Amino acid sequence: MRILINLKKCRGSGECIKVCPHGALHLIDGRAAVDHQRCDLDGLCIPACPHDAIDFVEES
Ligand code: SF4
Repeated sequence: MRILINLKKCRGSGECIKVCPHGALHLIDGRAAVDHQRCDLDGLCIPACPHDAIDFVEES
């Protein structure tokens, strides 16, 4: 499992960055990006996104 940012939905609001307690999210070129080394999969960023752009996905 990992966090996936849907780049078609992300508007770069940065709301997810505010709630991430591990500093795992940042903006790159106006879109959210996840540092998977830091992410502990707590899921806090998922409901924080006003554009429904973040969700868990299974690792392939
Ligand atoms: S799941 Fe938690 S640790 Fe991972 S990016 Fe989202 S808020 Fe940060």
